Amino acid sequence: MVRKTCVLVEPRSGFMRFCELLPVWLLSLSLLFGLRTPLFAVDFYDTVLLTTSLQGSCDINFQKISEHYGLRCKVIDLSTTALTDSLLRDENGEYLKAAFINNYTPENPAYLDPNEIGILKEAVETGGVSLLVLTEEITNSRESLLKKVTDNVIIGATNPADSSTDYVISDSFPEITREFTGLKLSHAGPQTDLAITLSPNSASNIDIIVSATDDSSKLYPIFGRYRKGKGSIFILGTKNGKSLQNTQMEELYDTQHFSKIVPIMMFLRYSSGDEVWHKETDYANLTIDDPFLVEPYGNLEFKGLLTSMQTHDFHTTIAFISWNYDRSNPKVVRLFLDYPDRYSIAIHGNNHDHYEFYKYSKVPLKEQQKDIIQALHRMEEFKKLTGIPYDKIMIFPHGIAPAKTLELLKRNDFVATVNNQDVPLETKRPESTFYGMEPAIMDYANFALLKRRSAQGYRMWSFKKAKSDIDVAPYAFDLFIDKPVLILAHQDFFFSGIDAFNSTADKINDLAGEIRWTSLGDILKHLYLEKTNDDGSVDVRMYGNKLVLSNKSGSKRLYHIRKKETLNVPISKVTINGVEANYIVENDTLKVDEVIPLGESIELEIIYNEEIPSIANFPTGSLRNIRKSGFTVWILRRFSDLRDIYLSTNRPGRAIISLYYIHRRTALRIAGACGLILISVIIFAIVKVRGQWKE
Ligand SMILES: [Zn+2]
Repeated sequence: MVRKTCVLVEPRSGFMRFCELLPVWLLSLSLLFGLRTPLFAVDFYDTVLLTTSLQGSCDINFQKISEHYGLRCKVIDLSTTALTDSLLRDENGEYLKAAFINNYTPENPAYLDPNEIGILKEAVETGGVSLLVLTEEITNSRESLLKKVTDNVIIGATNPADSSTDYVISDSFPEITREFTGLKLSHAGPQTDLAITLSPNSASNIDIIVSATDDSSKLYPIFGRYRKGKGSIFILGTKNGKSLQNTQMEELYDTQHFSKIVPIMMFLRYSSGDEVWHKETDYANLTIDDPFLVEPYGNLEFKGLLTSMQTHDFHTTIAFISWNYDRSNPKVVRLFLDYPDRYSIAIHGNNHDHYEFYKYSKVPLKEQQKDIIQALHRMEEFKKLTGIPYDKIMIFPHGIAPAKTLELLKRNDFVATVNNQDVPLETKRPESTFYGMEPAIMDYANFALLKRRSAQGYRMWSFKKAKSDIDVAPYAFDLFIDKPVLILAHQDFFFSGIDAFNSTADKINDLAGEIRWTSLGDILKHLYLEKTNDDGSVDVRMYGNKLVLSNKSGSKRLYHIRKKETLNVPISKVTINGVEANYIVENDTLKVDEVIPLGESIELEIIYNEEIPSIANFPTGSLRNIRKSGFTVWILRRFSDLRDIYLSTNRPGRAIISLYYIHRRTALRIAGACGLILISVIIFAIVKVRGQWKE
C-alpha cells in the first residue's frame, strides 16, 4: 500500500499547480465519461502542519502520525509563506479537516500576524476545521497564540509539581478517546506535561479530555477542547520529547509516552473520521494452550467454562496439539459442536515435543516441513472423527519458529500464526517507524504474524491464584489501533476456579466501543483496515488470506482491496464468494477492485495450495502416516498428561511440578540418580532370584 507523505508547500510553478490538482482532473474526467466509479482512487490533502524550518519533535510526530493514518499532510512554512485561506483548503476548495500548530512557532510575530490569526480562527469557526495547538510553558504575562485563538479562554500552561506519571481520561468524550474512555493510566517516573490554565471565567464550551494528578493529588488538565462555531481548537500541554524521525512508533505507544503521541492520534482519528485507516468493530479471543477434549482436562472443566463464557460473554479457542487427534471425549465434542460461537480449535504444533519448530541447527527445515504436513493430516482426521472444524492458524509450541517456517505455513494455506513473540526466531527486528502498529505484521515471509498477551496474574506452576484486579490498559492500547485482543492461558490458570477469567472478560467488555469475542479464524477473516477516499471509494488493507467485507455505508461502493504480496509462494487463484475473481499483483501488492452493493458482504479468498501434500509421497521416508510411532514423543505426551490432568489439580501434585520447573536441572539429576538406584535394585533382585532358583 502506498503511503501518502507530507509535501512542503512552497511558491508553486504552473506545472506543480497542475500536478497538485491532478486528483480533481481525474475525478472530473471520470464524471465526464459518465463512469459510476472513478478511474482512480481520488484522495486530496487531509491535514495541514503550520510550522517553520525549525521543526520540533511534535511537528515531526504530527506528520508521521498523519502518514500512519493514511492522511495526506500539507506542510506550510510560515517563515517563507504568508498564511491565506486557500492554503487551509484541499485541491477541491474544501477546508482541510485538521490543522496543527506548535504554540512556539508563531511567537515571532513575523510568522503569524493578527490578520493570519484571524484567517485561522475563521477556518475553525465557519469552516469546521479542527485545530490542535501544542503548547509548551506559557506564563500569563506573555501574549500567546493560545490566548488569541481561544479568545482568552485558555490563558497559559504551567509546569506542575508532579513526580509520577498518570493520565485520567474523561468518560464524557468516547467519540474522541475511544477505547481509552474513562481509564486511569499510571507509570513510575516524573510527568513531563504541562497544566493548561483556564481563565477564571472560562466558558462552558471547554471540554477537559485528559487530566493528570499532581503531587498534592490535585487534577490538572493536559488535553482539552475549546468548541468554537462549527469547529474546535484542541490544546495539548506537553513538552517536546522523542521524535518519530528516529524512534519507532511502537516504542512511544505506551503509558510512559502517552501524551507525546496518543492525543495527536485521538485528534486525527476524531477530526478525519472514516478517512483514516480504521476498523469499527473490535475483536477478542482467549486461547488455552495444550488441552485435548476430555472432561476435565486438569483444572479446565469445559462445561463450567461454557457457563462462564455465556454469562461473561467471551470465546475460547483451544490450541490443540495435533498428536491428540484421536483422544476426544464425545461429551466434550458435543459442546464444541453445539456452541461454535463459544468454542473453537486452532493448531498447536504437531507432536509438541519441546521446542518443535526451533532453530534449524537443532530442528532442520525439512523436519519442520514434515511436522506441518503431518499436523494437517492429523487435524483432518480429528475433523473426520469429531465433526469439529479447525482454523489453519499455527500457535507454535514453546515459541515462534524461524522466518522460513512461516513460508511453509503460507505454502500450506495457513491463515496466520499467533505467538507470544512478534519477531521470528534468529531474525532481526526491523527498524521501520510503523513496525508493529498495524493489526498484523507482514514483514516475514509475507505471512500474517500476530502477537498475543499472557492472562495477567498467571505464571506457570505457581501457587498464586489468577489475579482478578487486572490492568486493562494494554488491551485498550491494542484496541485503539484496531489490533484484536489475543490472550493466552493454560489449564493451570483455572486452579483458582473455572471463573478465573470472568473479571478480565468483564473489564475488556466494559471498554468503550463494540467488541466481539470469536474464534481466531473469524478474527483473521475480519482483520483489515479501511479508509474512505474523497471520491467515496474505500481502500482496504487485508492481512490473512481470507476476508469478509460488508458494505454498511449509505450506498453502493467501490472497494480497492489490497494485500502485501511478494509472491514468495505462487497464488493458485483468488475467489470472491467462491467464484474465481480477477486480480493483479504489482509492486508487491495484490489488488482486487470490487463493487459491493449496499448492505451486502463478500468473502474473498486467496488460495495458494488447495490440497494438503500427501504423506505417502513425502520424500523423506520416515513420515508414512499419522500414526503415533515415536516412543520419545509418546513418553513426553504422557508426561504432560500426568502433569496437567493428575498433578496440577491438587497441592502435593503442584508442589512436585513446581519443584521440577524451578529446579529442573537438579530434578533431572535426582531423577537420574533414582533411575540408577532403581536399575541397580532390579539387577540385584534378578541376580538374587536367579541364585535362589539355582539353589
Ligand atoms: Zn504448549
